[in-house]
Amino acid sequence: RTVYLNGDYLPEDQAKVSIFDRGFLMADGVYEVTSVLGGKLIDFDGHAVRLQRSLDALDMTHPSDKDTLLEVHRELVARNGITDGMIYLQITRGAPGDRDFAYPPKDTPPTIVLFTQDKPGMADSPMAKTGMKVISIPDMRWGRRDIKTVQLLYPSMGKMMAKAAGVDDAWMVEEDTVTEGTSNNAYIVKGNTIVTRQRDHDILHGITRAAVLRFAAEAQMKIEERPFTIAEAQEADEAFITSASTFVMPVVEIDGVAVGAGKPGPVAARLREIYLEESRKVAV
Ligand code: PLP
Repeated sequence: RTVYLNGDYLPEDQAKVSIFDRGFLMADGVYEVTSVLGGKLIDFDGHAVRLQRSLDALDMTHPSDKDTLLEVHRELVARNGITDGMIYLQITRGAPGDRDFAYPPKDTPPTIVLFTQDKPGMADSPMAKTGMKVISIPDMRWGRRDIKTVQLLYPSMGKMMAKAAGVDDAWMVEEDTVTEGTSNNAYIVKGNTIVTRQRDHDILHGITRAAVLRFAAEAQMKIEERPFTIAEAQEADEAFITSASTFVMPVVEIDGVAVGAGKPGPVAARLREIYLEESRKVAV
């Protein structure tokens, strides 16, 4: 695999980063994951805008710009022959040469890394047909989940808790309401209404979320952006998640309780179809 590191395209085993990198020592970095379908980038603009927002929130300097990043994404897709898959991008506050809690001087060069992940046929995931099962766990992350940092230990623990419980993912709960999944936004459907948590510091502002809510509104669905409980979700007609890597994925069981008929419902299926169709049309 060819990867990108600080301006160079390199074989993956030759891409090396300092042990003093603040991403490594302090999780002082941000990331984005962009899907590739048919060799084209899905929602690239949204990811580029959110990247800038994350950098601004942490007072980090963008080592590049949107147009250059688009070129790098395209170059990696071409060099690695990716048809369907993902591109991971990470920017850290660089390697100041020692360990210190205080940020290094502004002129410390950031570290930027991109690599591809090949996922042939990812849009035809069998899980879209069967649906996924989730458990609820307490949300123990920090208070700025709207910044997409590489500080992912609690979501990793959540995935392991889900695995140990024999299910696919965990929905995180804070003060009795669902914040989001370990790596996705969470939704329930009641009648013609879609409910999903409002955008604030408690959740990541999903790029797929923005697109799916836009398509749902265009399809005359009602949208309520508010918190919901696990009990309300278990009594809903449908539940689903969204993310750049899963698109729209139905959730059919929460804490051992079947949601609706216990199989993927029509709203999630329709939104998945619309999202895939429309975002392929405008892919770059
Ligand atoms: N919430 C969390 C915690 C995530 O990690 C992610 C994606 O990785 C999402 C939501 C979904 O965001 P997006 O649709 O931009 O992939």
